[in-house]
Amino acid sequence: MNLLDIVFPKVCLGCEKNGSYLCFDCVNYLKSCQHNVCPYCLKSSRFGQTHLDCLKKTNLKGLTAVFWQNRILKKALYKLRQKGVTDLKNTLLEIALSCLGEHQALVEIIQTEKPLFNPLPLSKKQENKQGFNQAELLGKDLAKSLGLTYVPEVGEVKKGIKTGSYKSLLLFNDLWDRQSFLSVADSLKHKGISRVWALVLAR
Ligand SMILES: [Zn+2]
Ligand SMILES: [Zn+2]
Repeated sequence: MNLLDIVFPKVCLGCEKNGSYLCFDCVNYLKSCQHNVCPYCLKSSRFGQTHLDCLKKTNLKGLTAVFWQNRILKKALYKLRQKGVTDLKNTLLEIALSCLGEHQALVEIIQTEKPLFNPLPLSKKQENKQGFNQAELLGKDLAKSLGLTYVPEVGEVKKGIKTGSYKSLLLFNDLWDRQSFLSVADSLKHKGISRVWALVLAR
């Protein structure tokens, strides 16, 4: 236990028990998102893959949510975004990585295409207010754990794709922000990036 844990003991976000942000009992309340939808038409699609017909209208190949958002996750993401409790990051990443394997289509893309990993940009106004972009904070370590190359800016992605051998891109955010994912994916199409997938922690 370090000094910070003694001065500011971690409290479970679910039951307020001392010791960690998420105790063993409350981890069980997190529900893996087993019913993803096509990000374009919002109809059922097992792993969040965009339907073939819908792909004619968007460049986003799919959007996978790892968890359903519940009271505990809502509190965790609120604290991370608004209160700057950035060491919550490790707890969130641990639970995300433990469940990611259930989302087969996404895992396949990560393993076979090794996409560039890019955090969803935050509006400048929001970023100034928070002091950081939570998608960057979480995304940097998540990309590392997944063995993917992290690029902080969409502008740099363009360079990476042109000079490197990357053919696809994985966009990341903490929450399901379908409209932003669709517009970033579509803006990349004009730059020659035709395979864009999105991943969020919770929907
Ligand atoms: Zn608890
Ligand atoms: Zn669809």
